[in-house]
Amino acid sequence: MTMKAAVVGGGIGGLVTAVALRQAGVDVRVFEQASAVGTAGAGIQLAPNATRVLDALGLLPAIRRVAVEPTEFDFRRWDDGRVLSTTPLAGAIADTYGAPYLHVHRGDLIAILAEALPVEVGARCVDVVPGDRGAELLLAGGRREQADLVVGADGIHSLVRRSVLGAEDARFTGHVAFRGLIPAERVAGLGLAHTATVRMGPGRHCVHYFVSAGRLLNVVCVIEETSWTRESWTDRGDPAEVRAAFADWDPVVRAIVDALDAPLKWALFDREPIPRWSKGAVTLLGDACHPMLPYGAQGAAQAIEDAAVLAACLRDDADVPAALARYEALRHDRTARVQAISRGNATRFHLPDGPAQQARDAAIAASNGLTPDLDWLYGSDIFTAA
Ligand code: FAD
Repeated sequence: MTMKAAVVGGGIGGLVTAVALRQAGVDVRVFEQASAVGTAGAGIQLAPNATRVLDALGLLPAIRRVAVEPTEFDFRRWDDGRVLSTTPLAGAIADTYGAPYLHVHRGDLIAILAEALPVEVGARCVDVVPGDRGAELLLAGGRREQADLVVGADGIHSLVRRSVLGAEDARFTGHVAFRGLIPAERVAGLGLAHTATVRMGPGRHCVHYFVSAGRLLNVVCVIEETSWTRESWTDRGDPAEVRAAFADWDPVVRAIVDALDAPLKWALFDREPIPRWSKGAVTLLGDACHPMLPYGAQGAAQAIEDAAVLAACLRDDADVPAALARYEALRHDRTARVQAISRGNATRFHLPDGPAQQARDAAIAASNGLTPDLDWLYGSDIFTAA
């Protein structure tokens, strides 16, 4: 009999899971609380560990049409824009790892993923009850749905996580990001290349890269704040606050920040790795089980890897709890390590000028710049290694 799966959450993790499970012969439905899929969000980086999975699912040609393949990854200094390191990306990364490094708009990616999927929008899950076999979903309005497998891909404040593992609030990291998209013609005078650029300075950093086939520049400016009471992907930020925060930076950064008229303000939350994230026929995926700071550009990539591994485990073993145990075993240590890398960058990117910053810049210049774990991150066989 065909296995029936319910995926809670129609973000990148949930939608890639639905595609992968369908290709594994599972009958999948996606329940998304928003009234439409995927219009919110800005840039997402897709490293080769993610694009390899998307390629295997047959999605890469469509994604390439809306993506930008950056030529290189640059770290730059905050006050004079000096290049600290350059890592070749276009061509070089695909030659080494068999898949490209791409930048996409989250909305463009979600539109491609959702195209052929039965996503039910306006469907907010309010409870999940694991049973002896399968599990039951309760949706707002009182409807109940049975499934052989429930996947909680419902983000950092996951309801499914709370239902199966108990309540535990995510932790505010002290970092707040202002982000936005600038039409490319508004920054044409700056001569920005199609690179992935991170500019690091004391207590803040700025990331920019083009998305939507080069039509938009994605900008994320991170500062430190002592407190925050809510988390939302759609809160408005004050452009004057960002301009003030970067007022003594390199003129290129100031010009980029000046062009950000309506930045969104996004507080960054985090959680510690958890030992287990499945119960009976219910499991978690992506930010629901291993949210991470965006400083390794791996949040979406790890969710995409989860999806592929989960589908492979279910293809190999029709016993759902056993397949989920194998999925967790394959994913736990790897995602915890990526969480730690991302958290480490929070301190590393924001060092004040001085000996520690000079040592960091020397180490960056001497290495490939991105991370010493690159071969492990981009090149591992995710279906066998942890
Ligand atoms: P998410 O992307 O958080 O998706 C979770 C989905 O579950 C959402 O669609 C949410 O509406 C849905 N959901 C939550 N609770 C319920 C419920 N109870 N019932 C049904 N559905 C539910 N990352 C970036 O790097 N840049 C960005 O610009 C960016 N923008 C984002 C905008 C939005 C609106 C969101 C939700 C996330 C954004 N992210 C962004 C985060 C990035 O997409 C994720 O970190 C990464 O892709 C992992 O995704 P995920 O699928 O695990 O979770």
